[in-house]
Amino acid sequence: MASEKLKKCKNCLKTLSIQEFSTYPDKLKNGTSIRRLLGNCKLCVSEKQKQWKAVNKQKVKSYYSDNREKYLANSKAYQKANIARAKALMARARARKIKRIPKWADNEETLQKIIEIYQKATNLTNETGVSYEVDHIIPLMHSDVCGLHIPENLQIITAAENIVKMDTWDGTNNNESWKKEIILLIKNLADKYNV
Ligand SMILES: [Zn+2]
Repeated sequence: MASEKLKKCKNCLKTLSIQEFSTYPDKLKNGTSIRRLLGNCKLCVSEKQKQWKAVNKQKVKSYYSDNREKYLANSKAYQKANIARAKALMARARARKIKRIPKWADNEETLQKIIEIYQKATNLTNETGVSYEVDHIIPLMHSDVCGLHIPENLQIITAAENIVKMDTWDGTNNNESWKKEIILLIKNLADKYNV
């Protein structure tokens, strides 16, 4: 009968069966790893974890109550920053799919510039309560022209303006004829309702 392997716990100093100790993987230089026994027995480890959790729960609690305002402001700022980033990433994915990003513009630097534009639109929306969107001046998809997904081809317009503009193109680089369309629309509405 093989004798039971024993080990002394560094914490409680009891000599116990190695079954009472958890193991952890230790990475070796050759890339493989072996499992070693922890110095403290399972009971001591779980006791220490309990104590740690109790102490830290209190720490976390008082941190948030002490810094509540700061925490809320930070998380709001974080969320806002990430909305713009998420939108910019989605726009990039769409543009990549239809191959509207030239190789020289498909990089982190350009992405940052585009995120800034989305951030401006998000800020404008939050500040004014009017929904602002990022629009491609020359549409990415059009029967006569293909705009690029690059900062130079992006502009911030209201969601209402975007509905009128859609994927129209007037044949110029500025592509601003849709603005006249809006003035005409407003005029027609004013005539219709006598305002
Ligand atoms: Zn122990």
